[in-house]
Amino acid sequence: MNATKKAKPKAPDQDVKARLLVVEDEQDLQDLLRYNLTREGFGVTCTDRGEQAIRIVNDRQPDLIVLDLMLPGMDGLEVCRALKSDKGTAHIPVVMLTAKGEESDVVIGLEMGADDYITKPFSPRVLVARLKAVLRRNAGNGTSEDDQEQIHHERIQIIPDRHEVRVDGNKADLTATEFKLLHMMARRPGRVFTRQQIIDALHGGMAAVTDRSVDVQVLSLRRKLGEASDVVQTVRGVGYRYEDG
Ligand code: CA
Repeated sequence: MNATKKAKPKAPDQDVKARLLVVEDEQDLQDLLRYNLTREGFGVTCTDRGEQAIRIVNDRQPDLIVLDLMLPGMDGLEVCRALKSDKGTAHIPVVMLTAKGEESDVVIGLEMGADDYITKPFSPRVLVARLKAVLRRNAGNGTSEDDQEQIHHERIQIIPDRHEVRVDGNKADLTATEFKLLHMMARRPGRVFTRQQIIDALHGGMAAVTDRSVDVQVLSLRRKLGEASDVVQTVRGVGYRYEDG
């Protein structure tokens, strides 16, 4: 998505026809996933082993991988690391399936390049919505690829070339760092950013920036967004995300 704005929009049903690989060793859950995702029109391949998942990804290049973290043998994080460190597969989005209490693994996975995660137990409806959101983001729809493009959600308007943010039409007085933080997250709504990813993006991975200072920035940003502050959501134990409605 570059240069000309005249480029034809992608087919709206693109995400419905996507081919998914589900990596899950619990048979009941694998069946549930296959049933619900097939019903949505996705092409679904399932496996219960990490090693096999990597072979399938290399052979078939699915559009998205749903990856359980707790697998026998090669676990989900190892699979994620292998896929994300291989140029041939790094571009394929990975959505992790995790159990409660695995937040530290989620953070590791996100920092390896996984796109999202879903905590078990989950509702199939929520799962499908999240997968579609990841597919849309990955296709460039629902994402502002052009970093100078204005972003306008219900209450919040971001005007990059003026470094300006308006809430309900009123200018919010953000620092340069707060602006960068909001803009980065708003360009990928729904995406969870870990504190380390935020530090890297804001400060180029530099020096003495702590997790705590990210929290302080977010706190200050929220204060300045006033009644619209709930667009910046805390994801417990993991990080932050921008969610409009
Ligand atoms: Ca498992």
